[in-house]
Amino acid sequence: MLEPFKEPIFVTKPLLPDIDELHKMLELIWESNQLSNNGAMVKQLERELSGYLGLDQLSVFSNGTVALQIACKALRLSGEVITTPFTFAATAHSLAWNNIKPVFCDIEEDTFNLNPDCIEALITQNTTAILPVHVFGNPCNVEKIQRIAEKYGLKVLYDAAHAFGVKVNGKPIASFGDASMFSFHATKIFHTIEGGALAFNDPYLKERADSLRNFGIRGTDYVMEPGTNGKLNEVQAAVGILLLPKVEAEIEKRKEITKQYGQLLGNVSGITVSKDMPGVTHNYPYFVIRIDKDKYGLSRDEVFDKLKEYNVISRKYFYPLCSNYQCYSDIPSASVSRLPVANKIADTVLALPLHGRMQADDVEKICDIIKGIMP
Ligand SMILES: *Cc1c(COP(=O)(O)O)cnc(C)c1O
Repeated sequence: MLEPFKEPIFVTKPLLPDIDELHKMLELIWESNQLSNNGAMVKQLERELSGYLGLDQLSVFSNGTVALQIACKALRLSGEVITTPFTFAATAHSLAWNNIKPVFCDIEEDTFNLNPDCIEALITQNTTAILPVHVFGNPCNVEKIQRIAEKYGLKVLYDAAHAFGVKVNGKPIASFGDASMFSFHATKIFHTIEGGALAFNDPYLKERADSLRNFGIRGTDYVMEPGTNGKLNEVQAAVGILLLPKVEAEIEKRKEITKQYGQLLGNVSGITVSKDMPGVTHNYPYFVIRIDKDKYGLSRDEVFDKLKEYNVISRKYFYPLCSNYQCYSDIPSASVSRLPVANKIADTVLALPLHGRMQADDVEKICDIIKGIMP
C-alpha cells in the first residue's frame, strides 16, 4: 500500500528570483525614484524579451488578460471573432469586454488546438478575426489558419499565454499572425508575478497598444482615445529581468520530467500522454494526460479525487469549457452538439504536477499511485 505524500504536491511552483539579487534591483529602483510609467526596468525587460524571443515589436503589460483586451482594440476587432472553447476564461472574456461576440469552434483531438477545418463554416459577414490558443504550448496549425485568414480578410490574434519561447521550424511562435499575447502570471514558465506581453508584426500596432495601455495618452496635452491602465511596474519588471536567465534551465528540467512521466505512464492502459511535435521547440509548461474510463477503469474526476487523497493536487485543465460557462452557453456556436471533440477532451484531461524543483522520486511515486489506484 502506497503512503500519501507528507506535503501536498501542487501542479506547479513559481520560479523565484534570488532574493539578494532582487534586493540589489530594488535599491536601483529606490535610487531612481521611478516606480512605474515606462521606467528603466520596463524598458530593459522589453529589450531583453525581444532579444530572447527573437521579436522586434514587443510591449509588456500588467497582465495577459489586459494585454489581450488591448490587442483586440489595437487591431480594431468588432462583431464576431472565432475562438476555441478549450482555454482559460481570459480568452473569451477579452472578446466580451470589447463587445465582441465569441464564436466557438471545435478543436483537434491530438493537439487540443482550434481545428482549422472547422473555421470556414463559422465565418459570417460580421467575422473580423480568429483568436486561436497555442494550448499547453503546442503550436496551432499556423499555416492553415493564415491561409483562411487571408482568403476572408480576417485578422489573427494568438493567445500564446502558454507558449513562451516555443519555436516552429526555428521561427518564434509569435512571428505568426498579426499579434500574439504572452502571460507572465506566476503560474507560467516565465513570469513577472502578474504580467503579460504583446508581440506585433506591425510597428504601428505596437505604438497603438503602448498608447492604449497608458489611458490613450499620446503627448503632454493630447489624449487620443479611451485607453486603459495596462502598465507593468518597475518592481515586477525587475523580477522579470532576474528570471529571464533562469528560464532555459527550468525548461530543460521540465523536459526531463516530462520524458520520465511519458516513460512511466506511456504504457498504462487507458492513459494517453502527449508527444513532442515534429519541428517544434517545446517549452513543457504542463504535463497533461487523457484518461479513457473504459480502459483505465476510473473517470478523470475519480482520478482527480483519488490523487487528492494521496496529496497529489492535479488540475482539470481545461474544464469546464468556456462554451459551457453560463454567460456563453446560450450562443448558438456554444451548443454541446457542435463541439463534440472539445466536450469529450474537457471531460478526460488531467494536468499532473510539473515544475523544475520536482524530484525524479516524486514523479516515480505519482506514477506508482496512478498505476496503484487502477481498479
Ligand atoms: C494564463 C492565461 C491567460 C491570462 O493570463 P493572465 O496573465 O493571468 O491575465 C490567458 N489565456 C490563457 C490560455 C492562459 O493560460
